[in-house]
Amino acid sequence: MAPIGANPNPNPNPNPYLDIEKIRTEITMAHILDYYEIELTRISQNHLAGCCPIHRGDNSNAFHVDLEKNLFHCFTRCGGGSIFDFVMKKAVTFV
Ligand SMILES: [Zn+2]
Repeated sequence: MAPIGANPNPNPNPNPYLDIEKIRTEITMAHILDYYEIELTRISQNHLAGCCPIHRGDNSNAFHVDLEKNLFHCFTRCGGGSIFDFVMKKAVTFV
């Protein structure tokens, strides 16, 4: 018997319009770069580099994107991660 107050019919996805896995598999770093109109230089088949769009530093190679793994990394100070990390870091940057 379920404890008092427990949801008897828990929904694993309470918001059917927000499917994180669907977003993770369908939205790529290329989409994110297009959305934010970020222009980078191709440095190899699957790697791009350029100025960091998060902290907007002047190091022209601080920001790298791996298009195959859908990851980014800023070697100056922003760190890196997935598309979700990028959008969150970009959202809290106000300088
Ligand atoms: Zn940065």
